[in-house]
Amino acid sequence: MALDDLYREVILDHYAHPRNRGRLEPNDVAMEGANPLCGDELVLYLRLQDGRVEGVSFEGHGCSISQASASMMTEAIKGKTLDEARALVASFKGMMRGEEPGDEMGDLAALQGVRKFPVRVKCATLPWISLEQGLDEYSARR
Ligand code: ZN
Repeated sequence: MALDDLYREVILDHYAHPRNRGRLEPNDVAMEGANPLCGDELVLYLRLQDGRVEGVSFEGHGCSISQASASMMTEAIKGKTLDEARALVASFKGMMRGEEPGDEMGDLAALQGVRKFPVRVKCATLPWISLEQGLDEYSARR
């Protein structure tokens, strides 16, 4: 199977069977994000404990890329420290700018094909921006 096809399957699987979808209660962060260009909307929920992402989920609707990216992101950051989560945001943004994904990206590497479609980069990045803003807001509150 060609790598592009494999990546497409990973994305479609997350879109069809989103992980960690739904409202998370109780939560420490509920961050809304929107990409008006495409009509993607989401709310990212985080429960943070002892400096780690103890729980994470998302709600919302939008294109396959935004939904799959959110689903993959929740899997990738669950259990991570806040610093690790931030590092992953930076790596993801870097990948979207054209950097080669490192091993830490795992399945997220499937989204690198999105780079070929500049309007879709915003879709893929939306949940990550919400994560970054949510962590910033949480840090500012403490
Ligand atoms: Zn979209």
